Formats: sequence, C-alpha cells, structure tokens
Amino acid sequence: MQITWDQNICCHAGVCVSSLPEVFKVQDGKFIINPSAATEEEIMSVVGRCPSGALQIEHCQR
Ligand code: SF4
Repeated sequence: MQITWDQNICCHAGVCVSSLPEVFKVQDGKFIINPSAATEEEIMSVVGRCPSGALQIEHCQR
C-alpha cells in the first residue's frame, strides 16, 4: 500500500500526525510517511479523516 500526500492541498490540521505519529511525522522539516508502521485498517481510518483530502491511498503499484 502506498500513501500519497499533496502538500498543496494539506491544511496542516495535524489529524494524521496526532492520530498515527509512527506513520505520519515531520522530520527535519519534511513530512514523512511510513506505511509499514501501522496496519492498513489504521492507516485507512486516518486517511479517511484527513479534512483536506491531501492524503490518498494507492492500492496498485505503478
Ligand atoms: S490530516 Fe490531512 S490536512 Fe491534516 S496535516 Fe495530515 S495531510 Fe494535512
């Protein structure tokens, strides 16, 4: 599973970072996503609560 993040859409509400800090974190000023740090269900739940729609799940590898 791949998660994409559109920085132009993100409104920095912080839902992702506060809900799953092991997956979504800011390191050295960069937003980092580590999908292997939680289950797919946990990640899908947080992505569904992203208020701006900046987070998207890609189920197929391109
Ligand atoms: S939950 Fe969505 S809008 Fe909020 S910080 Fe994360 S990506 Fe940005």
